[in-house]
Amino acid sequence: MTIFSKIIKGEIPSHKVYEDDKVFAFLDIGPLSTGHTLVIPKEAVSTLDQLSDESAAAIGRVLPRLCRAVMKATGARDFNVLQNNGASAHQVVMHVHFHIIPKFENEGLGIGWKSKSFDHGAGADLAKKIAAAIVG
Ligand code: 5GP
Repeated sequence: MTIFSKIIKGEIPSHKVYEDDKVFAFLDIGPLSTGHTLVIPKEAVSTLDQLSDESAAAIGRVLPRLCRAVMKATGARDFNVLQNNGASAHQVVMHVHFHIIPKFENEGLGIGWKSKSFDHGAGADLAKKIAAAIVG
């Protein structure tokens, strides 16, 4: 069981901002900016690809609403939504979570975005391969 399951159960305290039967949201204890909020499914799975359609739909339904609330409460106009999967992708807590990170002039998410050149031939093949791999 991860620390987030304990937070959902109330075994570990958190600054809760939202809860329904499938979703829980609370302030991040190590914020990148004021208002940094975590939105998590109550379903305890590690990464987004493991999440049920029901939990995914429940999060998708409230995520924009929670973003609006964080922006309104903090006065931020810009923000990032970050969702890490796997240790090499910077995931530390192995329970699916979405970060809402307000962006201020000197606070927020810094991104190292090193884009590669794009090969249209390989891209066409890859797009077909991904499309064929979609299940459900
Ligand atoms: P990750 O790197 O896994 O995407 O992010 C995990 C986040 O969980 C971090 O931003 C970290 O600050 C936050 N976090 C870890 N433990 C706790 C905790 O006990 N309480 C709260 N509120 N946030 C936590």
